[in-house]
Amino acid sequence: MSRIRKLDPNLVNKIAAGEVIERPASVVKELLENALDAGASRIDVALADGGSRLIRVSDDGRGIAPEDLPLAVAPHATSKIYTTGDLFNIRTLGFRGEALASMASVSHLRIVSRPKAQIEGREIILTDGRAEGPRPYPAPEGTSVEVRNLFFNVPARRKFLRRPQTECSHATEQIARLALAHPEVAFRLTHNDRLLRNLPPTRHRRERIAGFYGAELAECLLEFARDERGLRIEALIAPPAAARASTKWQYLYLNGRYITDRRIGYAIREAFRGLVEHDRFAVTFIFLTTRPDEFDVNVHPTKIEVRWRDAGLIQSQVLAALRETLLSHDLTPKLRTAPDARGTTDAPDSIGRQRARQALADYLKRVDPTQRRLSFQPPPFPTHRLRPSIAGTLKAPSTVGQGPPPDPNADPHRHPQAASAVANQSMPDADDPAAPVASPHGEAAPVLSAEQLPANAVMQIHSTYLVAQTPEGVIIVDQHALHERILYERFRECILQGPLESQGLLLPETLEVSPPQAEAARQHGDLLHRLGIELAEFGPNALAVRGFPVLLHNVEITAFVADLLDRLAETGSADSPESLIHAALDMMACKAAVKAGDALTTEEIYALLEQRHLTLRSSNCPHGRPTTLELTTEDLEKQFKRS
Ligand code: ADP
Ligand code: MG
Repeated sequence: MSRIRKLDPNLVNKIAAGEVIERPASVVKELLENALDAGASRIDVALADGGSRLIRVSDDGRGIAPEDLPLAVAPHATSKIYTTGDLFNIRTLGFRGEALASMASVSHLRIVSRPKAQIEGREIILTDGRAEGPRPYPAPEGTSVEVRNLFFNVPARRKFLRRPQTECSHATEQIARLALAHPEVAFRLTHNDRLLRNLPPTRHRRERIAGFYGAELAECLLEFARDERGLRIEALIAPPAAARASTKWQYLYLNGRYITDRRIGYAIREAFRGLVEHDRFAVTFIFLTTRPDEFDVNVHPTKIEVRWRDAGLIQSQVLAALRETLLSHDLTPKLRTAPDARGTTDAPDSIGRQRARQALADYLKRVDPTQRRLSFQPPPFPTHRLRPSIAGTLKAPSTVGQGPPPDPNADPHRHPQAASAVANQSMPDADDPAAPVASPHGEAAPVLSAEQLPANAVMQIHSTYLVAQTPEGVIIVDQHALHERILYERFRECILQGPLESQGLLLPETLEVSPPQAEAARQHGDLLHRLGIELAEFGPNALAVRGFPVLLHNVEITAFVADLLDRLAETGSADSPESLIHAALDMMACKAAVKAGDALTTEEIYALLEQRHLTLRSSNCPHGRPTTLELTTEDLEKQFKRS
């Protein structure tokens, strides 16, 4: 007797349903897609008990003709594609023709539909694969699909359903995913007869986002839109301070379909590198539109992944779009001490903002406002005696690395003349129209200068933070974090033009190395050369440093090399070259930057603050922590109840 048998069609459908229908949210997704494909302008979703008792999706779309009703619920029956050619020219959300058939095999399904221009509707009911109807049924134009008792005949699946509340929130997420891409369609959601969402149609994506995630998030989004090489990219990007603990907030769409894509996820991470901390993830809404033959959606039963014709191109276009948006905005987080009255209750509060608020509160607790030391003596400006580590960062990029390299062994504080030469050459002159006052931010960011501000408008507190008046209010700057970012960007600019200038050491410094360190030095010779670090073997367990980057003239050479080799040994060869460079520049910047606890002169404070506006990504240090917090006068007025 044959061991192989053809499966009963009912069982085949159940197997297919297993792929497409995992939980009530999957039913909601498929039904919404059908309604959108039918050209609906209004869609109502009703759930009972998280959808396990009832899911009803009603639309005002074009409806299903009476003769098509039995076919609509048949497996592999669709009105959306007819030929293989159509499969590569898909302009609808559905095309597999198996959603309704799958639902019919695992639930009690009922469809009522009345096509436009018909006087009457029709009803069809399916129970365990058997159809009743279609029969006449009074109904408004459009289609209403009811799925009751999901998985009543698949106990294993039913057992896996979670609490109604959890299932309902999964369903809500599916509605959000589609509703964000179709703001022109009205959506309503009720759960156990309670209205949860009511989203009127709108022309603005931002407004739709506010409908789900609150006005606070929607308002802070930065916009980007461009058509290039057959790809339209529209993006709404939250500034780094609004980053979340998961990538769930990275919404990606292709031709109105919500998708996930590893390479675009990577582009987002790359664009936000050094702007968010390593365990936080940017909030982005990215809408891509391109010709349907540029990709294939027929790779996953739930159509959530696509295969691109040229994935690399798409990835780099998205990366460029995100970078451009981030670099053209001032990303300094505004401290909002007053609660935002418009914040909606179910919109998760921006954790970045919460932290900022907490940081200010902690800070104010520590500072005694009557402290005498806070009063500030304004010295003359501009002036000499800038510490080279800060003064050096004032040089225009083209001049960096040129001119006489400073003596690495010299203590800048003991050679005020040498330092002042650097300072004078590099300080932007207030009267010089060619002075680099242009901001890298698209918006005119105010450049602080001694002439524009009262002399006592800046100060250093606790030898760690800089406080400065701005036209909008006051900023508090973490001096180490900001200087680190300034140096990082300067180093990066230099390294993009070629290896960093190396200063030969007349007397090479030697250091003992462990086997992994020695291996890292061998393996990453090219990288070290690009960084301006020249090493040579010096006996069995030692290396000699023959050259060291000019830019790091105030850094302890052997300690730095040892640390760098440790870092390279740790990250290994698995990391991409960019991330190794990032790690190395990051270390260089960190070592060379002023530290918390370093007392700065007023000139140094001014120099740092001026650079804030001339440096890319100056809102965050290379590890993604904020460099600057801003408190607006508006907010102060609220706090002091002046307004
Ligand atoms: P697919 O969407 O892949 O075609 P489905 O099983 O989801 O497969 O639907 C089968 C067919 O039923 C669709 O091709 C469409 O013609 C019709 N249909 C389903 N839902 C609706 C609806 N809400 N309005 C109009 N037609 C619908
Ligand atoms: Mg469908």
